[in-house]
Formats: sequence, C-alpha cells, structure tokens
Amino acid sequence: MPFFRRIKAEISRLKPGGARTDGLWLKCSACNELVLREEWLKQYRTCPLCHHHDPLPTPERIALLSDPDTFVEWDADLHSVDFLHFSGPAPYPQKLEDNRRKTGETDAVTTGGAALGGHPIALGVMDFAFLGASMGSVVGEKVTRLIERATTEQRAVLMVCASGGARMYEGMMSLVQMAKTSGALARLSAAGLPYISILTNPTTAGVMASYATLGDVILAEPGALIGFAGARVIKETIQQDLPEGFQRPPFLLQHGLLDAIVPRTELRPTIKRLLDALAS
Ligand SMILES: [Zn+2]
Repeated sequence: MPFFRRIKAEISRLKPGGARTDGLWLKCSACNELVLREEWLKQYRTCPLCHHHDPLPTPERIALLSDPDTFVEWDADLHSVDFLHFSGPAPYPQKLEDNRRKTGETDAVTTGGAALGGHPIALGVMDFAFLGASMGSVVGEKVTRLIERATTEQRAVLMVCASGGARMYEGMMSLVQMAKTSGALARLSAAGLPYISILTNPTTAGVMASYATLGDVILAEPGALIGFAGARVIKETIQQDLPEGFQRPPFLLQHGLLDAIVPRTELRPTIKRLLDALAS
C-alpha cells in the first residue's frame, strides 16, 4: 500500500479519547491531536504537544524511577483472597483473576528494592488499572512491609500513589490498612529516613488520607485528581459551591498540600536531587 494511503488508513482507525499503543501514530486522549507514538513513549506516555499525562504501566514506571537493572521485587507472592465471601454483580475471585490477566500484576501495588542515582531506595508503584488501585489487605501489607524493610535496611522510601480508595470487597480489613501504613511511616521517620510521595492521577480516598499525603516531600504529576471524597459528595454535604479546580495540583500547591508539581519527564532528576539532599 502506498505510504500516504497507509497513513490515511491508520489515521482513520484512530478514535479520540483513547491512546493506542500500536501503530505509528496515536491520537492524544486530551488534545485529540495526532502524535508520533515513538515520541509519546519516549516521554513516558506524555503528549509532546499538550503535555497530558496518560497512565504509565508499572514496568515503565519502575524503569523511570530506578537505575538500570537495580530493581528487585519484594513480596511478589502475596495475593488477595475472598475471606468475606463477598457477593455482588461479579464474585471477588473472578474480579481478581480478570485484573491479574489484564495487568500482568498480582495486585494493585508492586514493591521492591532499587537504587536511584546511586541511593538505595524502597520503591512502591500503584497501578490504577488493577481494580482502581483500591487498597485491600494485600496492598496495605505490601506497602507496610516495604516501609519496614526500608527502615531496617536504611533506605529512602518512594511511593508512586494512585487509588480510587479502599477495596470494598474486603470491608473493614481495607480500612485498617490506613492506620497500619501510617504507623510504619512514623517508625521510618523516627529512624531519620526520608519518604517521598508522588501523587498520580487519581489519588483519592483512603490512600490519599493515609500514606499518599504523609510524605516528607509530596510531589504531584500535572493534571492529577487528588482528593478525599468526590466533588459532588462534598458539595452536597457542606451545601456550598466549591472553588474551581480545588482537587487539582495548582490549587493544592497554593494551599500547602503539595511541595511541587513535577512533569513526569522531570521526575527522575528532581527525585535524585531530593535524595542527594535528604539521604546524605
Ligand atoms: Zn495532547
């Protein structure tokens, strides 16, 4: 097929609102412009034109935030079970199986040891594609173990946060993870080790109200939705109009919840500088 016809055929298959990862081109899910897939991937799935940040799969996030070949996964064998025998439109074990197949991950967080700029780190990466990165007992346990092992091994902790909140399929056991992870962070802090939290789109509810916002330094990616409850729920509860963009990084930076808004392409050098200052 002649080149231009091939390109035209490829473009005609693109739909706005969803980034395709195969083919030469993709249509940005924010600005709808055509961008070179290669360019988009090179910038860690951010649009070269409007700088929109698309979700970054866990392996690419680990590659971004660790020195080559230094990441060793911890607690990969922990997996959720349906201890409440939750019944709903779809059984919990089925949901878990579907999400494992879809993402290639065992649960919504991947943890491990690595180095960044030569500094030993404990790195946790949440994946929103896995059940909305909801925090169940395994997510809470893996994050807690990550922090505890970092405390023992004198590592800085780096958490890439994303979450829709507690995992309803595990009820109360999900909620207690907030206290458990926060307790582990208090001990990390007492040991004088730094904790850097990176808030990605979206970081909400129980994760936002626990380890996501307990960082010594809290960074956010541009455009991330960050908040405890949804805007509609807050508005109905307090019966007041809410400020424009009150759950977006610029507003949260202005009001002291964030320390900086850092584009994904700048994350690595920024965190390296922070570790140079905090972990020496
Ligand atoms: Zn764009």
